[in-house]
Amino acid sequence: MGWFKRSPWVLHYNATSCNGCDIEVIASLTPLYDLERFGIINTGNPKHADILLVTGSVNEKSRHVLKTLYEQMPEPCAVVAIGICACSGCVFQECYNVLGGADKVVPVDVYVPGCAARPESIIDGVLKACDILEEKYVKQKNTRHKTFNT
Ligand code: SF4
Repeated sequence: MGWFKRSPWVLHYNATSCNGCDIEVIASLTPLYDLERFGIINTGNPKHADILLVTGSVNEKSRHVLKTLYEQMPEPCAVVAIGICACSGCVFQECYNVLGGADKVVPVDVYVPGCAARPESIIDGVLKACDILEEKYVKQKNTRHKTFNT
């Protein structure tokens, strides 16, 4: 884990999860696993969120919600697919209305496999996303700097 200067906020979306991975996401935020010790808190507002946590495979119904949430998040942002369903669609990928994993709709930065994904893996995935977010901030800042100096 690198050192990140900000305290990113996370937004959690259940695309079609069985709730197994969702419970583990909540567990990772509780005092037992304590993701908040890194300054990370859960928000319900995509406009305040830096990292999107997606659980469950994506289907025809949830794809629009997922896309809208992602588009409402400020740039730069990062996406973490949590659980094998969000990573690839898992056993549901052949179902008639299932598109597959979250990356069929939004760009995924970190994949956290598992069924369900363990809180330790989720924390590891979110911290990796923090590093990626930091890199994106630096890239964005340098791009702006170049734009203003040309
Ligand atoms: S990976 Fe397992 S626990 Fe998580 S949503 Fe899919 S079936 Fe449920």
